[in-house]
Order: sequence, then C-alpha cells, then structure tokens
Amino acid sequence: MSTHLCSPQHVLVLNCGSSSLKFAILDATTSDEVISGLAERLGSDTPSIKYKYNGEKQLIELAKGQAHDAAIAELVKLVNELGLADNLIAVGHRVVHGGEHFTESVLIDDNVLTAIEKTAALAPLHNPANLLGIRTAQQAFSTLPQIAVFDTAFHQTMPNIAYLYALPYSLYKEHGVRRYGFHGTSHYYVAGEAAKLLGKEREQTNVISAHLGNGCSVCAIKDGKSVDTSMGLTPLEGLVMGTRSGSIDPGLFTFLTQQLNYSVQEIDDLLNKQSGLLGISELSNDCRTIEEAAVEGHPQANLALDIFCYRLAKQIAAFLVPVQRLDALIFTGGIGENSDIIRDKVITQLGFLGLECDEAANLAARFGKEGLISKGQAHAKAFVIPTNEEWVIANDAARIAKEG
Ligand code: ADP
Repeated sequence: MSTHLCSPQHVLVLNCGSSSLKFAILDATTSDEVISGLAERLGSDTPSIKYKYNGEKQLIELAKGQAHDAAIAELVKLVNELGLADNLIAVGHRVVHGGEHFTESVLIDDNVLTAIEKTAALAPLHNPANLLGIRTAQQAFSTLPQIAVFDTAFHQTMPNIAYLYALPYSLYKEHGVRRYGFHGTSHYYVAGEAAKLLGKEREQTNVISAHLGNGCSVCAIKDGKSVDTSMGLTPLEGLVMGTRSGSIDPGLFTFLTQQLNYSVQEIDDLLNKQSGLLGISELSNDCRTIEEAAVEGHPQANLALDIFCYRLAKQIAAFLVPVQRLDALIFTGGIGENSDIIRDKVITQLGFLGLECDEAANLAARFGKEGLISKGQAHAKAFVIPTNEEWVIANDAARIAKEG
C-alpha cells in the first residue's frame, strides 16, 4: 500500500455488510471527508440512510424491504444532486477476506471477482456481502474503476511460524486453514502514523498496535511489516471482544456438544454473539456501559474490564517475541481511542517494559485526538492514534485508478 499522490482526487469508499452499507467520499490526497453515511437495516421493515454533509446530519427513509441496490441507487441520486459526481475518480471497496490470493489492493475485474468468490468459504458472512456491494456499485458507477482493499492483505507478510496452526498440514495445503488476521488496513495506517510521530521511516519502525472496537486485534509490526496478529482463520481468535470470546480451549467444543447437547450453530452463536464483554458482564457488549457500571461497583462489569485488559496486556507482551525491539505501542478503534480506563490498566500491566502512563495525556486523548500517553525515559512509547481505514482505501483506490 502506497500513500503518495500529488493532485486532489475524490474517491467513493464503500463498506458493504449483510444488512448495512457504510459510505464516504474522501479527497484521497488530503483525507478530507466530503460526505459520509450509513445505510442500515437493509432488507428489513425500516431501512434508512443517515449521512453527514457540510456538517449537517440528514436522514433518508427507504421503503419497507429495500436493500443494497436501492441504497446504492439512492446514493447515486444524492451524489448527483449534490454535484459530487464529476470529481469522483474511483470506487474503493473494503473486502474482508482476501485469503492468500490478495497481498495488496487490486483493480477489480472478472478474475478478481472469481477469486473473492472462492474466498467466501473462509468468510461466509462477509465476502458475499462485499461482493454484492461491488456488483451493485459496478452497475451504478459503470464508468469508474472499482478497487478492492482487503482486511487480510497487510498480514500476508507473516512468516509461516506465525500463520500456521499445529494441525495436520494437509488442512492448510488443501483447504487454506491458517491464520489470516484482520483489521489490516487499520494496523497499517496507525503504524505509519506512529512512524511519523517517532520521526522514523515506516520501514525502520517496530510497533505493536491494538485495534479495539467491537472486534479487537493486536498486530506485531516489525520494520513496517505485519509479522504476527491475534485474529486467525476468522475474526473470532485472540482477544476478548464485545460479544466474541477470543481464544478458548478448543476442547470446549466437545464439552458443549457431549455434555450440554449444543449444535454447531449454537456454539458459533455462543462464541461470536454471547461471549466477550457481554458474556462476562451479563450486562452489555458496549464498553461505555460497562465502564459506567464498573465505576458504580458492578462486580461483573469490573471483572469483564479486568479480563479484557489482562488478556490484551498478555497478548502485547507475547508479541515482543516477534518484534524484539518495541518503538511504540498504539491504541486505536472506538475503545482504544476513547477508553482512558482500559489504556491505563494495560499500560500499568506492561510496566516491566518501562512504560508508564501519563495520566493527564491519557485523559486528554479521546474523541479523535492523537497523542503520546506515556512518559519517562523508556524506549517504547505509548500512543493513541485514531484509525482512518477509509483514507487508506481512498488512497489505494486513487493510486490504482491512476495506474490504470
Ligand atoms: P467497530 O468495530 O464496529 O468499528 P468501533 O471502533 O466504533 O466499532 O468501537 C466500538 C466500541 O468503542 C464500543 O465498545 C464502544 O463502547 C467503544 N467506545 C466508544 N466511545 C467510547 C468511550 N468514550 N469510552 C469507552 N468506550 C468507547
């Protein structure tokens, strides 16, 4: 992924989920956002589009049952009405899983579509939705080049000791069972920003980045390249998340099926939708709600935060092995960018690295503010860096569109 461009260019960035569509138009050179919005509850009784333009929030209600094609048709209308169409040079699509096929962003053609389709077995919830978004956008914006940017691509530099599971090798060779990792665009972006803050080249910087949103992952980045990450074949592995368990003993599957008669679907639901912060707290998956309850003395909310932070600190410490020298620890994502409580707990547990939380700076770093939140003489610094995946997608799309 390169981030060098000379002239301002507008790119439509689309992130298509199973019942939602996030969109934004960005200037790929300045990262200025022209418009952004979210079509949600697509296909339901109450689909709608919310968007922000010129600082004002607007709502478009769609008819009952309308889905992605109607949302994109509405988006095309909006883009034309606001006079934004002429400046568009490309459409950039976020695609969740690129398997081993995609190591970087690509111009979409029929071969690319087929390869994304083939990868759908690895991401059955996400890739079909991404494909739907691409196909609908291809029709709606037929004159614009469409570019795919993959969540997995940044992690394709991991060595085999990091990406292989200790399973029969044939599962990898024949079925692609391995660690892929996700949030790659975010980890890539914040690592670049950290290098700038440290006054170093990306290629000479070693960082560990913690992307903490509804999904959470840590990435070990050595000399600017991903060398290990906590998410695996799917986004379920690794850290404790909002509703996902993160890593568990796989022996749990046998226990749940044999002792408690769980079906595969029930286990999948349990681990993906009923676990994590929600499962432990029995209160909420939302970090804000849990923090408020913890302050009021809710024991399971406190426990959920403590387990979340312990597991995160433990994973960060483990990634000292692949990076060897740590220049920066980065917090990003909704929780990483806003929760001074979690950052403080994690940095405190990593005190053996010489890291010490700067209380005032930590409290001040929220709502999109970037900053150094550690103090002292330790080589490793801790930063809060708001992520900007849309900007990376816009930038890659503009570059590839220019290259043709
Ligand atoms: P997604 O992974 O869906 O993009 P986000 O990156 O927006 O999610 O992160 C959502 C998480 O960020 C939620 O758990 C939310 O509670 C948390 N969050 C947002 N603002 C704050 C805040 N001020 N303090 C603590 N947590 C916050």
